Amino acid sequence: MNQEHNLKTFVELAQMRAANEPNKVGYTFLSGEDKHQLTYQQLDEKAKGIANALLQKNLSGQRALLLYMPGFDYITAFFGCLYAGVVAVPAYPPDPNRLNRTLPRLLNVIVDSQSSVILTTSFIESVAQEMFKDSQQSLQWLSSDLISPNKKLQKGSPNIGENTLAFLQYTSGSTSNPRGVMLSHQNLLSNLQLAKQVMNYGENPHGVSWLPPYHDMGLIGGILQPLLVGFEVTLMSPLDFLSNPFLWLKTISDTKATASAGPNFAYDLCVKRIKPEQKKQLDLSNWTIAVNGAEPVRLETMNRFADCFASCGFKRSYFHPCYGLAESTLYVSGGRKNGSGPKIIDVDGKKLEKGKVVLATINSETTFSLVGCGTQSPTQKICVVDPNNKTLCSDKTVGEIWVSHKSVASGYWNKPKKNKAIFFAYTSDTKEGPFLRTGDLGFLFEGELFVTGRIKDMIIIRGRNHYPQDIEKTIENCHKDIRYHCGAAFCIEKNDNEALVAVFEVKNYDSKKQLKQIISAIRNAVNKNHDLQIHSIVLIKPKAIPKTSSGKIQRHACKNMYKQNQLDEVHIWHSDNEEID
Ligand code: ATP
Ligand code: MG
Repeated sequence: MNQEHNLKTFVELAQMRAANEPNKVGYTFLSGEDKHQLTYQQLDEKAKGIANALLQKNLSGQRALLLYMPGFDYITAFFGCLYAGVVAVPAYPPDPNRLNRTLPRLLNVIVDSQSSVILTTSFIESVAQEMFKDSQQSLQWLSSDLISPNKKLQKGSPNIGENTLAFLQYTSGSTSNPRGVMLSHQNLLSNLQLAKQVMNYGENPHGVSWLPPYHDMGLIGGILQPLLVGFEVTLMSPLDFLSNPFLWLKTISDTKATASAGPNFAYDLCVKRIKPEQKKQLDLSNWTIAVNGAEPVRLETMNRFADCFASCGFKRSYFHPCYGLAESTLYVSGGRKNGSGPKIIDVDGKKLEKGKVVLATINSETTFSLVGCGTQSPTQKICVVDPNNKTLCSDKTVGEIWVSHKSVASGYWNKPKKNKAIFFAYTSDTKEGPFLRTGDLGFLFEGELFVTGRIKDMIIIRGRNHYPQDIEKTIENCHKDIRYHCGAAFCIEKNDNEALVAVFEVKNYDSKKQLKQIISAIRNAVNKNHDLQIHSIVLIKPKAIPKTSSGKIQRHACKNMYKQNQLDEVHIWHSDNEEID
C-alpha cells in the first residue's frame, strides 16, 4: 500500500511511519565498534521535543543553522525543524585543521541564510562559540541533545502545507559561492517519488550511506529517501569511510544492502585500497542499486570497480549513473528498473568538440565513451536548449539541459533577480516552460540523457570545446606521482587568445629531475590526446587544490588563485618563459 502518495508534507510522512511501525528501526549509525539505532517512534518523539523548544522561542518561519557531526543529533534536529515550521539550514561543520578555508564558508551560509539560531550539541556549542566570537551576528544557540523527547507537539504549532519551505539546501560551491536553494515539502516529496519510481528497490531494501549528510546525495538520497520508501539505512561518518573504505563495502555485505551511492572517487578508492584478503569477506550480490553521481560518471571507474569486485558477486549492470542538482532537490534522471545496466555510447571526440554527437565507427584515438544518465520520466520534462538563443536543440546536439518538474525549487534564497532567469526559463521558439536552467551541458540520444559538463567550466580554444574533466583525466593517468582527483584544467586570456593552464597536486616533489619528467609527461599526454598545447603547468603540494566541502574541484577558485599567485606551488612551467622554480 503506497500511503505516501497521498501525503502533502514530510512531517505527515514521518508521523505516518511512527504511527504505523513505531518500533521499526529507521536508522542505524556505526561509530567504531558501536552501533546505535533509531526507531521511527524515537525519531518522531525526539523531533517533537526539539520542535517544541523551537516553538517556545517563536522561531517558526525563521532559519536555523544545523551545526552537527553526522549522527542522530543531526537527523532529529533536522526533523525537529520540519515539525516546527522552522527552515533548517544544514551546513558542513568547519574542519578544525583547515579553519581558514572552512570557517568562512560556514559564516557565509549563516549570513546569507539570515539564520537566527544555531542548533547544535552542547559539546559543539562549548567549542564553537569561541570560534564565532569575532564574527557572529546576533545568534541564539540551542543544544538539541539536552532536549527531552516528547509525545506531543505543543499547541499553536504552525500549519505546514505542501508549499511550506522545508529547508535551504546550499549548492556545493563548485563554481561560485554556495547558494541556498529553497525547497518546499512538495519539492522534496515529488523528487523522492520520482526517484522511487525509477529505482527497483525490490522486496527487502536496505541502504548504506557514508555520504556527508548535509546536502542532496547524503541528506535527501541517504536519509530522506529511505524514510519515504520505508527501509532501514545504515549510516557512517564520511571520515570513517575515507580512512577505511572497506567499512563501506563490508557494511553493504553484512546488511545485504540493496542501495548505496557515491561519486567516482569513492568507487576508485575501494579499488585502490581494499586488499584481496578483505575481498574474500564481501558478498556484494544484493547491491543492485549502486548509484554513481555528483560528477561526470567515468566508464573506467565503473569497469575497474566491476572487474575488481566481480568475485564478490558485483556486476557492472548494478551501477545506476544518476544526474541531479540541488536546484531540482536532488534527482533529475538515472537508473533503470529492468536491470539492464548503464547505457554507454562511443562517440567521435572531434565532432563532440563542435557540439555534435556522431557514433564512432572505429576505435580511434579520438573515440570517446560516454555514460548515459537515464531518461525522462512521464511526470517531468527534460530538454536540451541552445543556451544563447534558447531554441530547442535537436537530438544528438549538445546544449544546456533544462528541466521541468514539481521537484524544481522556486529559487535561491534572497536572490530574486537571479531566480526568474534560472528557475523560470522559457524556450524562445516553442515558448515552453517554465524550466530550470541547470548550467550543465549535455545531449539526448535515443531518449537517454548524456551530461557532458558545466557551461561555466568549459574550455574553448580556437573554436573547439574541451571539457576540463577530460583533460584532467588524461593528466592524472600520465604519471604515477600526479595525485588522482586533485587537479584542475582551465583557460586564461593571454594576448587576446585563450591559453590552457593545468594545476595539479603531486606526491613526490623533492627531486627537480622528477618534476621535469612530470611536466614533460603532462605536455605530451595533453598534446597527444587533445591536440592542445599547454600554456602553463603548476605543480602544487598535496591538499592544496581548492575543493568544495563535498570534495568537488573548484576550478574557478583555482583560476583566481593562479592569477593572484596564491597557489602553494612546488614547480611552475610556462611555455613562453624559461622555467620558474
Ligand atoms: P555550485 O552550483 O555551487 O557551483 P554544484 O553545481 O557542484 O555547485 P550541486 O547542486 O551539489 O552543486 O551539484 C550538481 C552538479 O553536479 C550538476 O549541476 C552537475 O554539474 C554535476 N553533476 C551531478 N551529477 C552529474 C552527472 N551524472 N554527470 C555530470 N555531472 C553531474
Ligand atoms: Mg550547481
